[in-house]
Amino acid sequence: MMGPSHALSGATVWLAGSLALDHFADYEQSPLALAVGTAVCAGGALFPDLDLSGKVTRNQGGATVARTFGVFSLFVAEVTEKVSLGVYYATKLKRDPRRTNGHRTLTHTIPFTVLVGWGTTALCAAYGKWAVIGILFFMFGLALRGLFDDWAERAGWLVVTLASLAAAWFTFATLPGDRGYPMIGLAVGVGCFVHILGDMITRAGVPILWPIPIKRRMWRMISLPDSIALRAGGKTEVVFVRTALTIVSVLSAIGLVAPHLLDRFNIDV
Ligand SMILES: [Zn+2]
Repeated sequence: MMGPSHALSGATVWLAGSLALDHFADYEQSPLALAVGTAVCAGGALFPDLDLSGKVTRNQGGATVARTFGVFSLFVAEVTEKVSLGVYYATKLKRDPRRTNGHRTLTHTIPFTVLVGWGTTALCAAYGKWAVIGILFFMFGLALRGLFDDWAERAGWLVVTLASLAAAWFTFATLPGDRGYPMIGLAVGVGCFVHILGDMITRAGVPILWPIPIKRRMWRMISLPDSIALRAGGKTEVVFVRTALTIVSVLSAIGLVAPHLLDRFNIDV
């Protein structure tokens, strides 16, 4: 899937999940907490593609997400791609093919998803609000880049960076300071997982079974059969999938926020 579909699917899963929690488990979130979780999950749903590097020295290429913070994120993508390729070769079995690029390997596995979610939670627990502002800044940037790609392309990375910083700062100033923010780690982890599922329904697939060796392969790419798999960036994805995701998120958001609004204006229904 392309960047915007990934980001949108992250936001949708978070909103729909929150609605389910609210409805079935009576777990209520403030509108701010909801907005933050949704943005972080949208950003997290782009995070695994930070392994698609471009050309740092010429400031070109790379995944959309790798250009979020200009040459800085391109550099991070370059490093991530090389580290992933290193892990690929370190764990590759006899029948795994040779590779020259680490895209869609380490960052597209379940252990990575768990590690990132846990790591985020650990950072927030250890460093409190200062870790939160850093993580929010990074995730907001990815979410802006993914959800509003046309705007981000026109505005340029500097504007995206400043907008993320402003949003992170506002959230930092408004969030209550007395907790460990476990929801942020969860949102990042869920986002990464949604990304992997999104890539799984395209033809290239993802090594979702790693590190379970099967028939002398550790890095088997799992995907839907070609006949029903989505073509990345194809019409089905851009029109049908995105429309469906948008409808679900809007309905979930209405379901979540409407009771608050009705409450505020004392409307009985
Ligand atoms: Zn991907």
